[in-house]
Amino acid sequence: MTQSLCSRFVFSVPSFVPCLVLYFVSFFASTIFFANIVLAQQDDFRAVVINESTREMDSGIFVSADPAAVKKYMPEGTAPASMSSFVLFSGDDIVLIDTGLGGTNWVKGLADLGVKPEKIKIILLTHMHGDHIGGLLDGDTRRFPNAVVLSAKLEYDYWLPQNAKAGTPQLEKIKSAYGNDFSKTFEFDEQVFANASIKIKALNAVGHTPGHTAFLIESSKSRLLIVGDLLHVAALQFPVPEACPRYDMDPKTATVTRKRLLDFAIQQGLPIGGMHLPAPNIGTVKSNGQGGYEFFARKIK
Ligand SMILES: [Zn+2]
Repeated sequence: MTQSLCSRFVFSVPSFVPCLVLYFVSFFASTIFFANIVLAQQDDFRAVVINESTREMDSGIFVSADPAAVKKYMPEGTAPASMSSFVLFSGDDIVLIDTGLGGTNWVKGLADLGVKPEKIKIILLTHMHGDHIGGLLDGDTRRFPNAVVLSAKLEYDYWLPQNAKAGTPQLEKIKSAYGNDFSKTFEFDEQVFANASIKIKALNAVGHTPGHTAFLIESSKSRLLIVGDLLHVAALQFPVPEACPRYDMDPKTATVTRKRLLDFAIQQGLPIGGMHLPAPNIGTVKSNGQGGYEFFARKIK
């Protein structure tokens, strides 16, 4: 990455996000922030985060983490995390990576970017928790009439629709609204999108969910690794990557994956973007020399 990633700070207004994901609600305080932030301004692609909200996460979600480490890195008992998703612009193509909670802020964020739902042809999902698929529906109908929604086969097979145990009413509605446009899946290491300027590859990021996926975006000039829910609380999980929130469905694997992908980002010199990192949701990672990591958030100009 050779040039500044941030060129403008688009919009900021306090707002309230309807709470569509119950498992998050009890650990968040009130919404305090909303912005669309341009993360990467390149000749060949532009990455923007729709940051629906930033809230305080309670340290109680780290049920099995070392209490001393939690106390050290979350001394107030809370730390900020955002609810975010990404939009990539490349030529005439617009690619959504996740669709957030899909509340008022998210819909407004998309509109502020000038994105009309019918323009979206492809949506990539990191996983199928409710705070990543919320925007797919407008009421009970599909918001994106021309989009194909892609997810990892492992993720799809776990949640839909044959696995009644894992299925949720929200996913049933989405499946019913999108039909076959929601059933396309990919394998890890597969290229899931390409045009004349960029290509996007799906990387194994399992642990948070059975098919949790990271996306590597590459052009001739730059690269960006979207890590989904690899981390929920940056303040604690960069220095202590073993700390898993209760949302990590397989904590042991989530820990291994967290270290593997952060090491990969360091080795490759990749900036990372995360759905729950505090704004501006992107930055670079370094080893802290003590088995953990240090995160350097991209500065907003
Ligand atoms: Zn999430």
